[in-house]
Amino acid sequence: MIKFLENKLFRYLSVFLFLNSAILPVKSSSALAAWAIKTNGVLELRTKSNTNLKAYFQKANQIYGDRFWVDFPGELKNPRTIKGNGPIKEIRLGKPNNGKTRLVIEFKEQTYLSPLTWEMVGLDKYRWRIKLFNPKYSFRKIGEGELKRKTKNIRSNKNLSYVSKGNNNYLKLPDVKKGKFLVIIDPGHGGPDPGAIGINGIRETDVVLEVSKILKKLLSDKGVEVKLTRKNEVDLDLFPRVSFANKTDADIFVSIHANASRGKRRDINGLETFYFRGWKGRLLAKRIQKQILRVSPGSPDRGVKQGRFYVIKNTRMPAVLVEIGFLTGRLDARRLEKITHRKRLAYAIAKGILEYLDKVG
Ligand SMILES: [Zn+2]
Repeated sequence: MIKFLENKLFRYLSVFLFLNSAILPVKSSSALAAWAIKTNGVLELRTKSNTNLKAYFQKANQIYGDRFWVDFPGELKNPRTIKGNGPIKEIRLGKPNNGKTRLVIEFKEQTYLSPLTWEMVGLDKYRWRIKLFNPKYSFRKIGEGELKRKTKNIRSNKNLSYVSKGNNNYLKLPDVKKGKFLVIIDPGHGGPDPGAIGINGIRETDVVLEVSKILKKLLSDKGVEVKLTRKNEVDLDLFPRVSFANKTDADIFVSIHANASRGKRRDINGLETFYFRGWKGRLLAKRIQKQILRVSPGSPDRGVKQGRFYVIKNTRMPAVLVEIGFLTGRLDARRLEKITHRKRLAYAIAKGILEYLDKVG
């Protein structure tokens, strides 16, 4: 900052922002998620929510052309330079110091700019825009990342610890009254019955057991009592699963499965959730389906359906059967192999369940 004040070109500083400063730890990843300079000369940014941005403009000197830059908290992983076109010479993404990210737009000589009229506008807590030049210049859009996607950086996270750290609302599980609810989770298949076998030999029994265990942990942390119909690789027939559930006064029953398509077609992917009866079962299915789709971008929504599966037909409480993807599908199988995706699914199912419990009580 001092360095900047000493600069006699200070008068060219026209945009300077500090917004809701949710200061991110130095080690955190860059708050810049996506950016684009559009054909109309508007720069759009997507950041982590409520990011503290600082923007600067500096007039050309002997070394550089006119430059506009924005600093973001969080460290950039791969500094890079992107070639410009039209009035823009180049765009540099750099790390001015540790724990920071800087997006620099350098203009070509003799580009007419009027930085004194520039204004950075926050569109919502993730998105920003600023008009930099007039469309009279012929200019092809330049950018990286998806500006519209609001769930940030979900892919790059290696474990679930971000759930509690992040200030992203989406990643926060709703609270429910502690000690009030009992949920039965039924990991499909088990023991000699592996369920569906998918691409690379991925087994339904393993996938659903792991998702169920993570789900149990997430719900337990919220003060919801959880019972699993199986805790390991045991052969458990459908009847004992149901009678086990019916002996309790559980609020809901959630059976977790993964799909396989006939003929193991790799082009068939998607998620679906079944209920057998009642508005409660249907509501629970809808809440879960909505959440699992959010963590499975690109995978088709096969919908909430009525199904006559034994475990949801014969349980007394509202019951659903969730199909978390096709182990035989190219897109779904690649994801279901990964622990990160299993965690996301568990998280999504937990969110659907908690929303339901909060609403229905
Ligand atoms: Zn199954």
